[in-house]
Amino acid sequence: MKFKMAEIAKKYSFELKNVKTVLNKRKGERSFFMEDYTLNPYMGCSFDCSYCYVNGSKYANKTSSLTVKSNVYELLRTQLKNKANRGERAIINLGSASDCYMPIEEELGLTRDILKIINRFKFPVHIITKSELVLRDIDILKKIQKSAILPEDILIKHDFEDEICKLKAIITFSFSTTDDKIAKIFEYKTSPPSKRLNAIEKLKKEGFLVGVALMPILPFLSDSEYSLNKIFSDFKKYNVDYVLPGSLTLFGENTNHSKVKYLSLLKENYPEIHEKTAKMFQGKEYLSKIYQKKLNGRVYKVANEFKIRTSII
Ligand code: SF4
Repeated sequence: MKFKMAEIAKKYSFELKNVKTVLNKRKGERSFFMEDYTLNPYMGCSFDCSYCYVNGSKYANKTSSLTVKSNVYELLRTQLKNKANRGERAIINLGSASDCYMPIEEELGLTRDILKIINRFKFPVHIITKSELVLRDIDILKKIQKSAILPEDILIKHDFEDEICKLKAIITFSFSTTDDKIAKIFEYKTSPPSKRLNAIEKLKKEGFLVGVALMPILPFLSDSEYSLNKIFSDFKKYNVDYVLPGSLTLFGENTNHSKVKYLSLLKENYPEIHEKTAKMFQGKEYLSKIYQKKLNGRVYKVANEFKIRTSII
């Protein structure tokens, strides 16, 4: 098993590393991703989106340092067994810091094995991804949807049997645009948005709660009312359950950092908006509060018009 893992990791230029823990506990209130714990089977992300917040931020040096957490399976089994024995119930979020359905996953199947353990100990799961490879695991996700036990606070707040069942296996697809041409520039290693939309359709037909993390919304490319209308009408067509919006952040000053990577692609492909975008991020990583307030206003207006909620439940 370990030998096979090492071989596959090498083929995809990943390193193997033993870690001390695999579940990171949420600090503070339940976020809009609803997680109690985050779990990332891999470190770094081979999708390498130009705007990825991990590039240059305090969360990691760069997404191109790729690692398989080689002991994740054994550790998780022990940790979940202990939690289940204590009666602890928790939503586990997969894919918060690196996509758990990168190309290596197709061959390694680590995320699939993890889902099997999660199902064995009856924990609910929330997957965030940009890849249609998640469709491979519909069989296990269905089992989770059937038998997972939700945390008490969620059961108390929501007493509709049908909705409750759906909260046991949530799938969120991340988008910055629904335009394949724009995505090809800034996130060219991921499944194109059109494929993600088709995956949403399939998962919806299977009865899952499926939504979108519209993050990051790209200034001048996907943030106008016109663009948002187009994006939300695409989401509506595919019957998404919710859209979680978020604005762009750009970190760092080195060539492999998101600010430099994103702005240089912008200069090359959309020179007319390069300067004004660069100005918005001059000396800072976040867009101004005024911009964010106006963006939120547009997003919530459009979401309202399309009758799509901006939270999971
Ligand atoms: S898929 Fe997500 S984690 Fe991976 S590079 Fe893109 S934004 Fe970063």
